[in-house]
Amino acid sequence: MRCPACKAFNDDKVIDSRMTDGGSAVRRRRVCQACGRRFTTKERIEAELRLTVIKRDGNKAPYRRDKIVRGVLHACYKLDVTEQQIEELADRVEGEIFRDHERSIQSEQVGQYVSAQLRALNPIAYVRFMSVFRKFKEVAEFVEELEDVVVRVENETPDQQSLFEA
Ligand SMILES: [Zn+2]
Repeated sequence: MRCPACKAFNDDKVIDSRMTDGGSAVRRRRVCQACGRRFTTKERIEAELRLTVIKRDGNKAPYRRDKIVRGVLHACYKLDVTEQQIEELADRVEGEIFRDHERSIQSEQVGQYVSAQLRALNPIAYVRFMSVFRKFKEVAEFVEELEDVVVRVENETPDQQSLFEA
């Protein structure tokens, strides 16, 4: 590990480890022995590699958390939702996914988990998400569609800075 503060490499010590995300990841608290900075890493390995998402047309793709995060991020565009809340939402969705699905999951089921969590988080984001999800039913497709929506919103309000610019 590289220290985020002083960039010392492999000079950290693990001070705490615990399972998280329904047992699909391990969170480790570390301390840099060069500068004393504490930081946390989250190791997520097996589940992403082994879980397959089955699309409606029968095509398969490896499960990827970042697709969920991107979809939710875009549904929450310009709303009062923090990236931390979005990551926590993704944690809860993944907890459900990995609890109930060992090898494969239908993409529509992923969308249902996301929509249930989004409904509790922010009603506008939920409506946005569902309007796209009902139409496309595909994680990849609704992410693309939401990106189009974001572009349109940006064009309509050009003087407001995007919350989610990289
Ligand atoms: Zn350091």
